[in-house]
Amino acid sequence: MKLESLVAALPLERKVRLLTGADFWSLHPEPAVGLRRLVVSDGPAGVRGEIWDERDTSVNVPSPTALAATWDEARVEAIGRLLAAESRRKGVDVLLAPTVNLHRTPYGGRHFECFSEDPLLTARIGVAYVRGVQGGGVGATVKHFVANDSETQRMTLDARVDERTLRELYLAPFEAIVREGEVWAVMAAYNGVNGATMTENPLLQDVLRDEWGFDGVVMSDWFATRSTAAAGNAALDLVMPGPSGPWGEALVAAVRAGTVPESAVDEKVLRILRLAARVGALDPAPAGTATPGTATPGTATPGTVAGTAYTEERVAAEVRGAAAAGFVLVRNEGGALPLDPAELRGIAVLGPNAEVARTLGGGSATVFPPYTVSPLDGLRAALGDGVEVRHAIGVVAHTRTPIARAPWLCLPDAADGTGHGAEVRYLDGDGSVLAVERRDGGAFNWVMGSYPEGVVPERLAAIEVRALIRATEAGTYLIGSSGLGRHRLLLAGEEAYDAVLTLPPGSDMVEAMLTPPQRTHPVRLAAGESVEVTLVHDRERTEGGLPGPALQLNLQTPHGTDEEEIERAVALARAADVAVVVVGTNEEVESEGFDRTSLALPGRQDDLVRRVAAANPRTIVVVNSGAPVLLPWHEEVAAALLTWFPGQEYGNALADVLLGRVEPGGRLPTSWPLHEGDRAVTQPVDGVLAYDEGPAIGYRGRQVEVLYPFGHGLGYTTWEYGPAQVRHADDGVAGEVTVGVRNAGDRPGREVVQVYASRPDSAVERPRRWLAGFARVDAAPGEEVAVTVTVRRRAFEHWDVAAGHWAVEPGTFQLEVGSSSNPKTLSEAPGLTFG
Ligand code: BGC
Repeated sequence: MKLESLVAALPLERKVRLLTGADFWSLHPEPAVGLRRLVVSDGPAGVRGEIWDERDTSVNVPSPTALAATWDEARVEAIGRLLAAESRRKGVDVLLAPTVNLHRTPYGGRHFECFSEDPLLTARIGVAYVRGVQGGGVGATVKHFVANDSETQRMTLDARVDERTLRELYLAPFEAIVREGEVWAVMAAYNGVNGATMTENPLLQDVLRDEWGFDGVVMSDWFATRSTAAAGNAALDLVMPGPSGPWGEALVAAVRAGTVPESAVDEKVLRILRLAARVGALDPAPAGTATPGTATPGTATPGTVAGTAYTEERVAAEVRGAAAAGFVLVRNEGGALPLDPAELRGIAVLGPNAEVARTLGGGSATVFPPYTVSPLDGLRAALGDGVEVRHAIGVVAHTRTPIARAPWLCLPDAADGTGHGAEVRYLDGDGSVLAVERRDGGAFNWVMGSYPEGVVPERLAAIEVRALIRATEAGTYLIGSSGLGRHRLLLAGEEAYDAVLTLPPGSDMVEAMLTPPQRTHPVRLAAGESVEVTLVHDRERTEGGLPGPALQLNLQTPHGTDEEEIERAVALARAADVAVVVVGTNEEVESEGFDRTSLALPGRQDDLVRRVAAANPRTIVVVNSGAPVLLPWHEEVAAALLTWFPGQEYGNALADVLLGRVEPGGRLPTSWPLHEGDRAVTQPVDGVLAYDEGPAIGYRGRQVEVLYPFGHGLGYTTWEYGPAQVRHADDGVAGEVTVGVRNAGDRPGREVVQVYASRPDSAVERPRRWLAGFARVDAAPGEEVAVTVTVRRRAFEHWDVAAGHWAVEPGTFQLEVGSSSNPKTLSEAPGLTFG
C-alpha cells in the first residue's frame, strides 16, 4: 500500500498523535496502519538505548573529534555499520547522530561531539558515518540544524550569521549529508538563526525541503518546540520528547480552527511513515524499503548487520583500530617514539587521566561501556612482566567529588570487598519497600523513568541507596552524594548531613542530571576498614525541573597535596627509563550544557608535566581531551600524542601506538591554539550571538599564531612528495590531483595527502587557503604510491548572495598539495581554471 493511503486512512486525532513522542525515546505505534513503536537513541559515540545507566551497556566508539582526526572515510563508515549493529541489538531504529556543528571556537562545550572546524572534512566524515549507519538499516539523524556551535544560553540564543557564511560553512555539512548521504532524519536545534527559532525557522522549508529535496523527518531537539501553530506550519515533523508538548490536542484544535492546514499534518505523518518504512517499522513493508540487520534486541553482542557478524573480538578490534587511527602525534623529538619494550626496564605512567579511562565526553552523548581500558591497564598488558610499570596521579585535577566506584564501592553485605556496587531500595509513603535492586556503580538516573518492576512513580516516596565504602589504604575518605532535593546521608547509622540540594532556576537540564550539586562528609578509615553508607532521597522535595531524580554516591579517596603528589610522580619519573604523563580534561570542564571558559588543562597538570620533564628527558605526554587544550610546555617534552576521547579500547590502542605496533594515523581536524583568546566568542549579548568573524574560523581565520596547524600530524616514517598533476573533470567533480608519494623511511606508514585551494586575485572575499580535497595512503618502506585526490566543484564555488545561488568565479584557482595547512608543508600544483 502507498504511504499516502495510510495517511488518508487515519482520522485527524490519530495523525496528530504520531507527531509527538510517546515518551523520552520512542514514537507512538499505530496498529491501524501497521506501524510499530519506533525507538530513537543518542549518539554519537555509541548507542545508549532507552536506559541511562550501567544496566544497559553500549559499545563506546571513539568520539567525533577522534573519528574526524582519522581523515578516513572508509574507517568511519565501518564504525557507522558497527553502530547500526549496536542499534539493532538494543532495539533502536534511529540513532541521534552525527553532530555536524562546526568547531567555530575551541571553547564550545560540545566540541568533542562535532567533527572539525572545516566544512569539507566535516561533510566527508559525516557522509561516511551516515552511510555506515543507514547501510545497516538504521536511521541517522544529522544534528543540530543549524548554528548550534556553542552551549551558553543554547536554548534561547539567536545566532546572527550572514548568508554566505551560513551557506559556505554552517549549512555545508548538512547539505552534503542530505544530498549525498541521503540521511533519513534531521534534528532542529534549540537556538534561533537570524531571528527565528530553529523549530520554526524558514530554513527548514526553503532550504532543507525545497532546495535540497530532503524527504525525511525533521525532529525537534529535546524540548525545543515552542509553539503550536508556528511550529505546525513550519517544516518540523516531530516534537520530542513526549507524551506532552505544544502539539497534541492544541494542534488538533489549530487544524479545526484553520490556523494550521490539515495538509501540513498529513505531510508530517507521511514523513514519519516513510522513516518507519525505511527502518523496518511498518508491516507490511512497502516495496523498496531497507532491510534491517538481524541482531536481536536484549542480547549482549551486536549480531549481524549488512553481512558482517559482530563478535566481541571483532568489535574490540574495530574500536581499537579506529582509536589508534585518530591519535595525532604532534611532536616526536629525536625519535623518542615508538618505544622499544626490549630496551625498557621500568616505565612511569603518571597523571590524573592514566588510571581512569576518559573515553567519551559528557551530556547526551554519554553511553555506559561494558568495560574500558585505561592507559595504565593498556600499557601494563602490552609490556608484560618484563617491564616494571609504576603509577602516580601527579595531581588531582577535578574539583567535584567523583562518582563512587570499585574497588571501594561494595554491596552492603560484602564487607570482605568481594561484591562491588550498591543496593537501591524504593520506598512508598509508609516506608514499605516496593522493590530492591543491586547496581554495579554509584550513579543512578530516573529522569526518563527506568524504574524496576513494582515501582509506580506516583507511589514512590523515597529512594534509599545502601553500600559499604571499603578503604584500600588508611586515610581520610570524602563520602557524599549529588542530586537535587532532599538528601540524608548516614554513615555507620549516624546522620552525616540532612540537606536540600538546589540549582539556580534556569539551569541547563544536562547540568541538573549529570553534574548536580554535591555534599560530602570526611571519614577516617584504616586500611581494609569498611563503613556502611545510606543515602536517603526524599521524593517529595524539588527535583529541579527534572521529571525524575538523578542521584550519585560520591567518593574521594585519600590523596596528598598537589605538591606531595607531584613529588611522588617526579620520583617515579626519575627512576624510570621513560615517563608517560597522561593529562587531560574531565567532565567538569568539557561537556554538553556549558562552554569552556579556559583552554588550560584543569588543576596543576602543566606544573606536573614540567616537573616530570625536568626529571626525565624521555617524557612522553599523552593528551586525553575532546577539544584543544593549551600545551605551554610542549618544547620541554620529548613527544606529545593527542588521543581525544578514544572509546572503550583506549589503553590498548595507546599501547599499540606508543610501542610502534600501529602508526599514529591521525591529523588535526582543527587548529590547535597557542594561547587563550584569539577565537570567536561563545557569549551572547542580549540573547544575540553575533557570528561577527563571518567565514574566518579556524585556519580560515585571521593569521593568528597556532601551536599546531589544521591537518598536522606526524608518523613514524617520512614522506617525499613528487610533482603533482591536475586533470580537469566534469561538472560535479571539478578535477583530480595526482601526486606520487614515497615512504622514505624504514617502517610502513600512513599519510594523509591534502589539497588546498586559493585565489589571490579574487573579486570575492575568501580565506588565504582552504581545504579542497584529501586522500589517505598506506605505503611500505621505500614504496611510492600515486595518490589521486578528487576535488569537487563545490570546493571552488561561493554563495552568490545577490543571485541566491552557487557560482564559480571564472579564472584560475591555485592548488597546493602537502601534509598540512602550514604553507611550509605544501608545494604548488598546476591550477584549475574555470570558464
Ligand atoms: C541534545 C541532543 C540529544 C537530545 C536527546 C539534547 O539535549 O542537544 O543532541 O540528542 O538531548 O538526548
